[in-house]
Amino acid sequence: MFFNGGVLATKFANTQMMLASTSLSMLRPNNLRYPLTVRRNSTQERNQMKKFDSGALLIASDILDDLERTRIANQNRLRAFQNEQGMTGTPQEAKIVEIVNGLAALETMAETVLKKEMKRHPLGKWVATANGIGEKQGARLLASLSGGDPYIRPEFELEDGTIEPERPRTVSELWAYCGLRVDQGVAQRRKKGQQSNWNDEAKKRAFLVAESTMKRLTKPCGRVTEEDEFATHVDGCTCSPYRVLYDTQRAKHETSTHTFDCPRCGPKGKPALKGSPLSAGHRHMRSLRYVMKRILRDYYNESKRLQTETK
Ligand SMILES: [Zn+2]
Ligand SMILES: [Zn+2]
Repeated sequence: MFFNGGVLATKFANTQMMLASTSLSMLRPNNLRYPLTVRRNSTQERNQMKKFDSGALLIASDILDDLERTRIANQNRLRAFQNEQGMTGTPQEAKIVEIVNGLAALETMAETVLKKEMKRHPLGKWVATANGIGEKQGARLLASLSGGDPYIRPEFELEDGTIEPERPRTVSELWAYCGLRVDQGVAQRRKKGQQSNWNDEAKKRAFLVAESTMKRLTKPCGRVTEEDEFATHVDGCTCSPYRVLYDTQRAKHETSTHTFDCPRCGPKGKPALKGSPLSAGHRHMRSLRYVMKRILRDYYNESKRLQTETK
């Protein structure tokens, strides 16, 4: 895919410099991964289109991804080293610990930069007011959407070399990009041996954002009995509205049945038959997918509003 590739082949020292700088604008690579900043022609045109400049946010997000991956890998190496006999308490161990701690400190720096970029971003206000969506997660979701914008789909090149020009997408296209399209009652699913037709990173980020809104459940709202699968909410509660939506969906699907043979609900090789009730896991995922779609739609609508409303 066009946004893959080693954009950030930056050396350690450069990374530190990049993180320390307050503005990342001079560091944008001339790469399609950051299409909004590459294709702009003039300030005048930019103002007319009111397009977002997500360049710095996208870079900060990439840096955070890289550092997080490296930190986790080295933490695992450290653990393996410590499991070897007689390695705990050695100077060698202390050196590796130092490296892991250094990576963790850099990761924190990258996170701070990313949060700052999210705050400065035109969509920052929406993220700040969306109950249950943090700046870090909101930014990483934004960065996972091609072009760093839920509304405008950037220009891209097809396999035969033709250029698909930049244009606003539809909400359904955004959902499909995040693997949330429903076809004849069946959710998008990866088929064996087939490449998925959605973006894994975007799906993962949308999932994590939805999952974090689940934690915004405040008293007196909650499950009435231990056996309840979902919470009940009082009027005007301070829970995340997305959590309320989830519980409404869960309640609605309590008696839902399959409209298709479901491989997920049956044991391996024996799908649950059409007409059988959804399993608790299926009810949870269906409700969570609904929340993912609503979050993406709200993000999309805000982006559209900001870029199309008249001054
Ligand atoms: Zn509530
Ligand atoms: Zn099922």
